[in-house]
Amino acid sequence: MDIVKKIMSKTAYQEFGGIVLSIRKHKEQDALIKIFTLEYGQRMFFVRNYYKANHAMKTALLPFSHATYIGTIKSDGLCFLQDYKEVENFSVIQQDVYLNAYSTYFANLADAAIEDGEVNKELFDLLLVSYQQLQNGLDPEIIMNIFEMNMLRYFGVFPKLGRCAVCGNEKEPFDYSVRYSGVLCTKHFHEDPKRLQIHPAAIHFCRIFQVIQPTQVNQISLKSDTKEAIRQLIDFFYDEFVGIRLKSKAYIDQMYEWEQSMQIVKRKREEEE
Ligand SMILES: [Zn+2]
Repeated sequence: MDIVKKIMSKTAYQEFGGIVLSIRKHKEQDALIKIFTLEYGQRMFFVRNYYKANHAMKTALLPFSHATYIGTIKSDGLCFLQDYKEVENFSVIQQDVYLNAYSTYFANLADAAIEDGEVNKELFDLLLVSYQQLQNGLDPEIIMNIFEMNMLRYFGVFPKLGRCAVCGNEKEPFDYSVRYSGVLCTKHFHEDPKRLQIHPAAIHFCRIFQVIQPTQVNQISLKSDTKEAIRQLIDFFYDEFVGIRLKSKAYIDQMYEWEQSMQIVKRKREEEE
C-alpha cells in the first residue's frame, strides 16, 4: 500500500490556471516558458520539443495564451507540463504587431512586479482582463494606461492625485509636485515652482485610471494631445518612482515616434497638394 501511495504521489499532477508570459528558446528544439499561474504564482516551465512541428500542447502555449494546465510544480527549479484543458487564445493580439507589443509590455511589467512563486490573484486577473479587452478591440493605449496606473501599487507607488497636498481641496485642475509627492490646486501652485506643469487632463485621467479596471472601459475616447499628456505623466511616475526601463516599453515609445513622423510626412504632403 505504501509503495502504491509513493508512486501515486510521484505521478500526481497539479491542475492550475495560467497565462503565458514569455517563451524563450532553449537549445535547438526546447523552450523555457514562463507562465503566470493562478495558484502557484509565476513559474518557469521546461517544454521539450516545443519548436518541433505539431507539438501536442502548442495551442495552449502560444504567446499570452490563457489555459488550464496540468503539470508538475516544483518548489525550486523548473516545472513541467503534462497536458491542458480549456484554452483561451488571443488570436487578434497574436496577429497584430502593435497589440503584440502592448501585450509583451504588460507581461514584462507583471513579471517585474512580483517575485516568482508569489500568488497574486488580483494581478493575474488584471493581466487577463487587459488581454481580453485588447482582444475585444478596445483602445490599446487606454488599456495600457489603466494597466500601468493599476500596476504602480505592486511597485509600492501610490501617487496621491485626488486632493491638493497643501489644503485638501478636491477641485481640479491640479498640477503634480514631486516636493509634496502629490497634486497642488491652482491656489497652491506657487508652493512649488518646480511642479510638473502638466496638462490638467493628464492628472484627471490618471486619477480615474488608478481606481478603475480595464473591464470598465467601453467607450472612452481621448484626443491625441490628451493621450500624449497622460503618457508623459505615467512615464514620469515610472521613471521617478519605479525606476525600471523595459525593452518592450522602449519599443512602444519607438512605435509612437514612427507614427508621429509618418503623420508629419503625411501633413507635409497634404500641404504641398
Ligand atoms: Zn490647495
